[in-house]
Amino acid sequence: MRIGVDLGGTKIEAITLRDDGSAGLRKRVPTPRDDYEATLEAITGLVHALERESGERGTVGIGMPGAISPATGLVKNANSVWLNGRPLSPDLSQRLERPLRFANDANCFALSEASDGAGEGARVVFGVIVGTGTGGGVVVDGRVLTGPNAVAGEWGHNPLPWPRGAEAPGPPCYCGRRGCIETFLSGPGFARDHREQTGEDREPAEIVARATAGDAAASASLERYEERMARALATVINVLDPEVIVLGGGMSNLDRTYVNVPDLWGRHVFSDRVDTRLVPPAHGDSSGVRGAAWLWAPGEG
Ligand SMILES: [Zn+2]
Repeated sequence: MRIGVDLGGTKIEAITLRDDGSAGLRKRVPTPRDDYEATLEAITGLVHALERESGERGTVGIGMPGAISPATGLVKNANSVWLNGRPLSPDLSQRLERPLRFANDANCFALSEASDGAGEGARVVFGVIVGTGTGGGVVVDGRVLTGPNAVAGEWGHNPLPWPRGAEAPGPPCYCGRRGCIETFLSGPGFARDHREQTGEDREPAEIVARATAGDAAASASLERYEERMARALATVINVLDPEVIVLGGGMSNLDRTYVNVPDLWGRHVFSDRVDTRLVPPAHGDSSGVRGAAWLWAPGEG
């Protein structure tokens, strides 16, 4: 049995995954924010509860914000900031009395979709979460690609490519840079752009609804958004050449994105044609926790 744990900023969710990829038991608890010890206890409690209920011991994979630094073994880059600088891996391994595997939440999303989701069968899958931020992950031959800096796939803090007008230097980003892709393609970035262009303060979903209803200003904002996403993904295609790009997160559930963006990215890709497919996720919000379980292959561990 494989157990996946998704350590989120507001909730911690855990599932059991059968060898055929179907989900078994599922449990969730609120994340004890700002309390590291309580976070360890919450994860341990969820795993033990699933094992008690199923009567089986499992492998455990954990999806988390940020990453475990290959250099120090400590958590870095987590927006759940009370984890940063903590030895999460040995602390949890000791409590759960087994080796554990960890991956960034965007990597778990990419792994889930590459394993038995929208990217199934593809050798190279790029998974992107466009929501409150813009995370990304790369899966090659069914394995998450990590590197010496644990930042593979983190395209969101590259600058928006081929900038025009006020796009450069662009808006300030929380990472300390300006004009990051995230400042344009995250939900808040989309809302900010619309506000700057129109003076209207609206939620992303409302802008989309207005565009769909024929509002000209909202349509223009959505078209700018799609065109920027096309530029940003074209650079990914030029570097990685994935068969499939899967979008997830709050900005991923608009059908027109999957038509309009591929119509626009060709002019930026160094190829006479582009066969990369842009697809919506198959597992929706469950992808993070499923991908965590997939950090162990069936029968492994
Ligand atoms: Zn940034």
